[in-house]
Amino acid sequence: MGKTPRVGRRDFLKMGVVGAGATLATGCRSAELGLVPDPGMDLATAAQLAYRRSLRALKRTVPLPDGTEQSQIGSGTLTSDHALLRAARGSRPGRADFDVLVIGSGYGGAVCAARLAARRRPGVRIALLERGREWVPGTFPQHLFSFNPLTPFVRRTAWMSEQHPYNPLGLFGFYDGDVQVVIGNGLGGASLTNCAVVLEPEEDVFRQAAWPGELRAKRALAPYYARAQRMLSPQTTPADRLTPKLRNHLATAARLKTERVWDAEAYQAPLAITFDARTNDQGVRQHGCVQCGDCVTGCNVGAKNSLDMNYLPLAWTGGVLMFTQTDISKIRKVGELYQIDYDLRPDAHRPSRRETGSVTANVVVVAAGTMGSNEILLRSREADGIALSRWLGKGFSGNGNYLGFVDYQFTDPAVRTNTAGAGIARGVPAEPVGAYIEGVIDFRRHRRPLERRVLIEDMAQASTLAGGVALLMLADLSRAVTLLGMGHDRAEGEIHLEGDAPIVRWPDYDRQPSHAELARLMDQYAQAFGGKFSVFGPARNYTAHPLGGCRMGASAASGVVNHRGQVFDAAAGDATRAVHAGLYVADASIVPTAIGNNPLLTIAALAERIADLIVTDPDHAALFEVPPTRHDPPMQSL
Ligand SMILES: Cc1cc2nc3c(=O)[nH]c(=O)nc-3n(C[C@H](O)[C@H](O)[C@H](O)COP(=O)(O)OP(=O)(O)OC[C@H]3O[C@@H](n4cnc5c(N)ncnc54)[C@H](O)[C@@H]3O)c2cc1C
Ligand code: SF4
Repeated sequence: MGKTPRVGRRDFLKMGVVGAGATLATGCRSAELGLVPDPGMDLATAAQLAYRRSLRALKRTVPLPDGTEQSQIGSGTLTSDHALLRAARGSRPGRADFDVLVIGSGYGGAVCAARLAARRRPGVRIALLERGREWVPGTFPQHLFSFNPLTPFVRRTAWMSEQHPYNPLGLFGFYDGDVQVVIGNGLGGASLTNCAVVLEPEEDVFRQAAWPGELRAKRALAPYYARAQRMLSPQTTPADRLTPKLRNHLATAARLKTERVWDAEAYQAPLAITFDARTNDQGVRQHGCVQCGDCVTGCNVGAKNSLDMNYLPLAWTGGVLMFTQTDISKIRKVGELYQIDYDLRPDAHRPSRRETGSVTANVVVVAAGTMGSNEILLRSREADGIALSRWLGKGFSGNGNYLGFVDYQFTDPAVRTNTAGAGIARGVPAEPVGAYIEGVIDFRRHRRPLERRVLIEDMAQASTLAGGVALLMLADLSRAVTLLGMGHDRAEGEIHLEGDAPIVRWPDYDRQPSHAELARLMDQYAQAFGGKFSVFGPARNYTAHPLGGCRMGASAASGVVNHRGQVFDAAAGDATRAVHAGLYVADASIVPTAIGNNPLLTIAALAERIADLIVTDPDHAALFEVPPTRHDPPMQSL
């Protein structure tokens, strides 16, 4: 196909590691926390500089439309120039514009882009299309006034929409409906705005009938969990840096266990967070966590191991072109190819300016998250009649998310929690708040029915939001804690397009048995140290863990995709196993039940597996090469 790269990708990566590591000097006051700002430089600027320098030190070869490979060095960002996207249309006469297109850059999209790129043959063109913009550590919102304009209140009620106009390039998305869904929007998906808790589900999750036979035992995913763990490198809060929030959480569980009220295990949450400065395996320089409590509005010191720190730089190094601010509206089948229609918003400061376009590809991996992938596929079915299973949109789960609030204002002795995010606008917080979530109280026990196997985690409130939360809850956040519960809801929600926007219909969501269990346990939690429990008013019927709608199944009669992520072609009948060749879904939307714990690791593991199956599929042998000696499990065993 094209020229062989002049320098191997692995060599380039090594150069990146050395280059990035060499550029940074060790700092002064914050050195013990692993911060390395130049003298006089604030933390956000230091983080931004370190990140951009790291990306500048990366090297890659990227395929040109004529099939040749061109060597490139990083420019300080991961995003490619939109001119390359516009120019791609029709650039390879008689062939698809791209060999592979990945839609979305969360755990599904970033993992697939990185792993497909690692195996691509020279000349194979892979692009990733992401609706949101690229965020760089140090540039995330630090003040309420900067937070609001960045927030897209996607299709909220008319009144809310008027107060906060929809911003498709904002850091968050909110979806109204019977379940209110919050998502992350940007290069890196919800990894930019999540709490980075990395947990594996228990075996029984996979034993449920809704999971396809190939995944009915957790061991099928074991090597992929291991790969994702290596990339995300979770750690717990160091023993000498435990915070009041975490201590209170663990002490509550210990007291209720001693009093035989609870049979639960409490432990520190494994977090995809770097606590000591390092240059990671992808060559990205990361500062150590300063425990500012702002994880969900983006880490401004570059300590969170979000996807822009690991999988996405790896995809970039492998030659993936990443186009941000590119919103996919639908997919059409044009002969053997797929045509992807997009709305491009070239100016991040004027999101209302947009242009439409389309590109074609042989292979498409839809990974726009649960809300995004359902939206694209529902619209594609409606607009262009692409035949999809009648399961599309069905089987939505909120992963049993439930928010509670414990107020310790009137306890004697005083209970200190310090849960108001401090941010880094004023430097390293004098009193560490901690990561957003730091501890897990785990009620998963074999003898309990699934709906009683729940988890309770301690939450801070980000500095941009803390004032508002304190006001709404009439509480002092230094003596209160927000609790995130999750468990096994019944996955009976349904995503519809209403007014061309996705919305979840599930009138029963607030009556899930797992919610009742969580409310009971949170009340006991509060009482352990004399606090008062209430439902977290500002976000009722809420989930940050949307799952399903494109669930896996054995055939179109039970799912939208098979265990390989291939989309069933329902034109061949209801019970068909036939698929649309080259069309995949690989993200949270394929999960057929609640997972019962934080889902990111399972989504990453499923994507690792799908990527592995794509690159080893004989039908794609022209695109990917797989070395004959591999340590990973052979495809037949999957
Ligand atoms: C506030 C918050 C906290 C969380 N905390 C945790 C946690 O601690 N641990 C955990 O395990 N999980 C957590 N999660 C959930 C976890 O982050 C998600 O489950 C996970 O990111 C889902 O991965 P995904 O690839 O399916 O989708 P996403 O990460 O949502 O990525 C999808 C991407 O696709 C893009 N996209 C959508 N539509 C389009 C379109 N039409 N065209 C182009 N691009 C599009 C989106 O902008 C987004 O970037 C949290 C989520 C949130 C919101
Ligand atoms: S607590 Fe602050 S520094 Fe640590 S990961 Fe979260 S946002 Fe980053």
